[in-house]
Amino acid sequence: MWIVITKKNLYNLLIILLSVLVLLVLFQLVFDNFLSIGANSNTSGYIVIIIDDFGNHGDGTEEMLSLGIPITAAVMPFMPHSLADAEAAHKANLEVILHLAMEPNSGKKEWLGPRGVTCDLDSEDVKCIVEDALVDVKYAVGINNHMGSKATQDKRIMKAILEKAKDNDLFFVDSKTSPRSVASEIAEELGVPCFSRDVFLDGTKDVNHIKKQVLKLGDIALKKGHAIGIGHVGIEGGRATAEAIKSVYPYLIEKGIHFITVKELKKILEGEDAF
Ligand SMILES: [Zn+2]
Repeated sequence: MWIVITKKNLYNLLIILLSVLVLLVLFQLVFDNFLSIGANSNTSGYIVIIIDDFGNHGDGTEEMLSLGIPITAAVMPFMPHSLADAEAAHKANLEVILHLAMEPNSGKKEWLGPRGVTCDLDSEDVKCIVEDALVDVKYAVGINNHMGSKATQDKRIMKAILEKAKDNDLFFVDSKTSPRSVASEIAEELGVPCFSRDVFLDGTKDVNHIKKQVLKLGDIALKKGHAIGIGHVGIEGGRATAEAIKSVYPYLIEKGIHFITVKELKKILEGEDAF
């Protein structure tokens, strides 16, 4: 069958070609969208890793800053490197929180460092320490406790700290150095977002042990949807912890686990889209 090419036929042909082109573009858009939805629905859990004891420029500081994994840097105030470490962590796009020294049930007083929160302080003095610490640890979006097995059991002390957190729109992460901590109870009363540590990752320089702890964190994230792990720079982990996280990271990503910050977890739990 012969088709005579007339002006009208040519015009119709152009219309058809244009329609096909528009359909192809639409199909591409829908398909891309479908793929991205697919990626989100493949998320099988969220991991938050907090690294404590920044502020001393301790062992592993550089390694943690250059990990390229979204970790949360908990920086101790009133230390020679507090400001520098907070600046460096912020520059490396890490989340920064205040690592507040709090009185333990046992242990050496010098482990508490300068201006630690002890239970003999009056509430105004505690608030003053938190206020000054937040000036020292710039960019802090939350607070967690360094030690604190005694102070986190003290309702009055926790109230003073959490009231300051509320004033400054900060969240609190309970490192859970005591099973009898009242942090989440008081935080709920005051309406302060509060999270709890699930796994301590190190306390040793044994890379294999730390890897196992990070995998344990992954298991908890797969079971309950999210998990918070705490590691350290300095003598309790440092380079060994950075190495362990780096080596286990690809395996956990493969499992569909996302590494996020505390603030992102907060948004997810509140039902907002963090990404
Ligand atoms: Zn600490």
